[in-house]
Order: sequence, then structure tokens, then C-alpha cells
Amino acid sequence: MKGVVVTPSVKDSSRIKDISIPVPSEEEVLVRVISVGIDGTDYEINQGLYGKTPEGEDFLVIGHESFGQVEKAGSQVEELKPGDYVVAIVRRPCPENCSNCAQDQMDMCLTGNYRERGIKGLHGFLSEYYVAHPRFLVKVPDFLKDIAVISEPLSIVEKAVKETYRIQERLSWKPEKALVLGAGSIGLLCTFILTIQGIRVSCLAKGKADKLRQEIFSRLGINYFNVDDTNVETLKNRGERFDIIIEATGFSPLAFDTLELLALNGIMCRTGISGGDKVLTIHSDRINLDMVLGNKVVFGSVNANRTHFEKGLRDLQIIDNRWPGLLGKIINRRVGFSDFKEAFIKKETDIKVVVDL
Ligand code: BGC
Ligand code: ZN
Repeated sequence: MKGVVVTPSVKDSSRIKDISIPVPSEEEVLVRVISVGIDGTDYEINQGLYGKTPEGEDFLVIGHESFGQVEKAGSQVEELKPGDYVVAIVRRPCPENCSNCAQDQMDMCLTGNYRERGIKGLHGFLSEYYVAHPRFLVKVPDFLKDIAVISEPLSIVEKAVKETYRIQERLSWKPEKALVLGAGSIGLLCTFILTIQGIRVSCLAKGKADKLRQEIFSRLGINYFNVDDTNVETLKNRGERFDIIIEATGFSPLAFDTLELLALNGIMCRTGISGGDKVLTIHSDRINLDMVLGNKVVFGSVNANRTHFEKGLRDLQIIDNRWPGLLGKIINRRVGFSDFKEAFIKKETDIKVVVDL
């Protein structure tokens, strides 16, 4: 079969390679891949900045945002059958099988030695087929098959929002306003998820909102700030404060600049992966005092487990009932398998780019 592989650390090494079709054990299933989403992590892997091959191999099959259909199920498999649509969880337990990994919370691995399919130490899903244990697969209802490829990024958002609320159980808290930093796929998915929670959401990002973003913002009632017109300082001076801030740009200076936009008892969740090496001078006394006197929380959130994928699938349904067809529009560029390289050529209007097999 064919798969898209890279040589980690080598810039722009992605290519199609003939690899052998994996053979499932009696406890595993063979999945035929239908489409795979591409995100910033894949982009960084292709830039040679991130990614690790499986042990003893010299290439890595990329792709971690998968959607596919069960082709064959081993005789011991009870949860899934041929024809079922599935999305795959990305992380696999650490070799030590730490207490969190042992409970299927690889997203909270305690050793840091977890592996991630298509990213760190294990082949991914951008190939014609892959094999997985049902423990790592989430069944998708047939009626969600056209948008289920966004399940993985959505799971990241579900985890971030869930953790935000869980942490805030420390107090009696009725959040009203949220600020989402970034209007890429994670940022936009955040605006949907927070809006269905009844939160008034603003979004701060770079540039003028294009047509699709404008449509999403106006239908959801999102307040959009283009950082060129309304920067953090302006918001600060205007006294704008938010109960929740979710960082989804990966531009680390913004994660610090916006700390003072947190309301009393507010919480900031950071999801953006910043691969670089930026250095920043900050008003540390001022920010520290503000955080202490305001009981503020800042935390990071990465990856997601089955519960977050399942919540995402339920929310997809809620969102699609409320704004029919709108969420699906964020998959706004599709490229064929043999043209996969085009997915790495960024376009300004891109939200979610998907490779179709
Ligand atoms: C993926 C996560 C992964 C993270 C760090 C993200 O792009 O969506 O599943 O944990 O990268 O490798
Ligand atoms: Zn672990």
C-alpha cells in the first residue's frame, strides 16, 4: 500500500512510499483510511522541526487526524465490525504503563514517554490502511461521516474546555465572557464549543476575517477583533476582561500579553504548540500581582482521550442541528492523496485542509 512518510529532522522530506499493508491480530481491526486532516504539527514535522520515527526505522508515516472505515475485524473483536466508521485516538501508553496510561489517560501520561501515532515513535494514519486495537478507536455514527475528520482537533478543544470547567470547580463560578486567541481550526472549534455552553465569545486573531470566518462569527454572534486594529493594549485600556481565555495560536508572546485580560477568578488555557525559541520581556511584577490578587489560573492542555472524542461527536450533532452545515464548512480545502504536498502549501483562507484517499 502507499503511505505518506517523512524523514524526521529533514526539511520537506514528505513523500509517498510503498509500505507493506499491516496485518491485524485477532484482537485488532484493519481500517481503510478515507481522509486525514493536516495541522500545524504535521506542518512542523514536514519542516523537520518535530516528529520521531518508530524505533529501528528510518521513516515515519505521518497523519494523526484520521477518519476511516473498518475493513476487517479480528475474531476476538466485539466492539466493531466491517463497515463501521471510526476515528483513532492519537496517543499510546508509555512503555512503563504509568497509572494514567493504564487507565486510558495517555493524554495525562506521567512519564512523558507516551507515543503518538504519526508524530512520536509510531506510524500515523496517512496511508491506505492502518491497524489498531478497538481500545484506541472511536466509532462514528454514519450521519456524521462527512465531518468526522475534525474529531481529533475537536477532541483537543473538548479537553481544554472540560479541564477549564473542572479546575474552576474550586469556586462558585458562572463564566459569561470568553476570549479565544486564534481563528485557525482549533480557535474556531473553540468558538463553537464555548458558544453552545452559553458563553459570549470574542475572538482575537491576525488579519481581516475572510468571508467564511465572517459568516461563522456572525451566525454564532462572535465579536471579532483583528489584532491590527484592536490589539491587546487597546482591549486592556477599554477594560475588557474575560472569565476564560483559550490560547490557540501557538504565538507564545500573545499567551503572556493577554494574561492581564483575565477577569477576577479567571482562567487561561493554553493549547498552542510553540516550536520556536522566542524570548520576551514582561511586566512580571504587575502580572504576578494581578494573578495573585485575582485568583487567576493559567494551565496547559495537550492531546485528548476517548471521553473527549466522544463528547466531540455528541457536540458535532448539537452544533449541526443548531447551525446546519456551518461547521462542515471549516473543512475548506481538500486535496487528493497523490497531491498531498499541496496540503503543506499554506493558504491564508485555509481553516482545515484534508487529504482524501
Ligand atoms: C495533536 C495532539 C498531540 C500534539 C503534540 C497535536 O497536533 O493534535 O494529539 O498530542 O500535537 O504532539
Ligand atoms: Zn504514561
